[in-house]
Amino acid sequence: MARGCRTRRTTGLTVVWSFAQNNLEQRVRFATGGARAAIAEEIARLGATRVVVIAGAQGAMLAREVLLDVEVAATVDNVVMHTPVAIAEAARQVALEAGADLLVSVGGGSTTGLAKAVALALGTPILAVPTTYAGSEATPVWGLTEAARKTTGVDRRVLPRVVVYDAALTTTLPVGMSISSGLNAVAHCVDALWAPNANPINAVLAQEGIRAAADALPRLHARPWELDGRERMLYAAYLAAAAFAAAGSGLHHKICHVLGGRYDLPHAQTHAVVLPHVLAYNRPHAVEQAARVAAALGVADAVEGLTNLTRGLGAPTTLRELGMPGDDLATAAAAIVAVAPSNNPTPITADTIARLLEAAWKGAEPA
Ligand code: NAD
Repeated sequence: MARGCRTRRTTGLTVVWSFAQNNLEQRVRFATGGARAAIAEEIARLGATRVVVIAGAQGAMLAREVLLDVEVAATVDNVVMHTPVAIAEAARQVALEAGADLLVSVGGGSTTGLAKAVALALGTPILAVPTTYAGSEATPVWGLTEAARKTTGVDRRVLPRVVVYDAALTTTLPVGMSISSGLNAVAHCVDALWAPNANPINAVLAQEGIRAAADALPRLHARPWELDGRERMLYAAYLAAAAFAAAGSGLHHKICHVLGGRYDLPHAQTHAVVLPHVLAYNRPHAVEQAARVAAALGVADAVEGLTNLTRGLGAPTTLRELGMPGDDLATAAAAIVAVAPSNNPTPITADTIARLLEAAWKGAEPA
């Protein structure tokens, strides 16, 4: 069996497929400009009467607008990136005291992540209204951080029952954050091509996700106030998350989770910086996957195409500018090696990962 490819088994002279695809039990609604009505309808469909809203500072304003028709039992507004355990405990307490039968999260991945932390403990269903392109709303993956260590896991209870996408809710997301968030979605796609449960079905989702994001991001960059680029980007973000949810976390996500937890780095920006380096690292042993990325980007060389896309959009290119200390690369590399998937296309050692981190830290050409 080839590294990074669990889908094909060779029996004698024939090659047969051997894989399982988990599909999401989730209702997904696209309602550009219509979130308010769509949310009210979905809450009625679910029959929920004790709604607890989870929305951080930015989300709170948007939540007020889209929940005008909803009776709210309680609100949680203390949202912190990477979901510290203490913040999750406080939110669970609010939901318990309110007798919540539905959590409505309005915000980016951090807000959805907090709703997931509550659902993980209490089993309360979630209706997610995303306002970034992180894609957490379409995965059963949760994450919690304690003592600079981010732990992630998969649990079907945290997968939102319903997602309402409304591109109008993302027009306030600043351009820089929008671009990094969109590249976070591209990272879901690329990593899904070689993640532990990669298969031909999620490869199709991933390839279309990269194509759609590469189409959306320059539009969004040029005219951030328009719905066109943002609607296309939400479509890409959903495909990306669906591919990632089925394929699992590959090397790229393991690197970003370790760095995010250890150094409290901004999630989307970390993905934007690291992705071209992981693609370059895996490319020699992931020829088919790199060809898919190149085809999706409409270029001959996947690494060059991704690097040009990232730079053209003005995304961050160094871990240094995100606040990562430069004197801890070897320790970070060791922590990554301990959690990296064993079937990564290119073999992983502490030395090669330290070199990858060094290149990403200083913004060297991905190689
Ligand atoms: P975020 O949710 O922290 O949002 C980033 C910033 O943008 C915040 O300051 C927020 O207030 C602001 N913001 C969000 N929406 C806005 C809007 N419409 N207008 C103006 N400002 C807005 O960042 P993120 O990148 O969306 O999410 C990162 C978190 O999500 C990380 O903890 C990451 O681990 C998690 N995540 C989880 C999954 C998963 O599958 N479990 C997938 C992706 C991300």
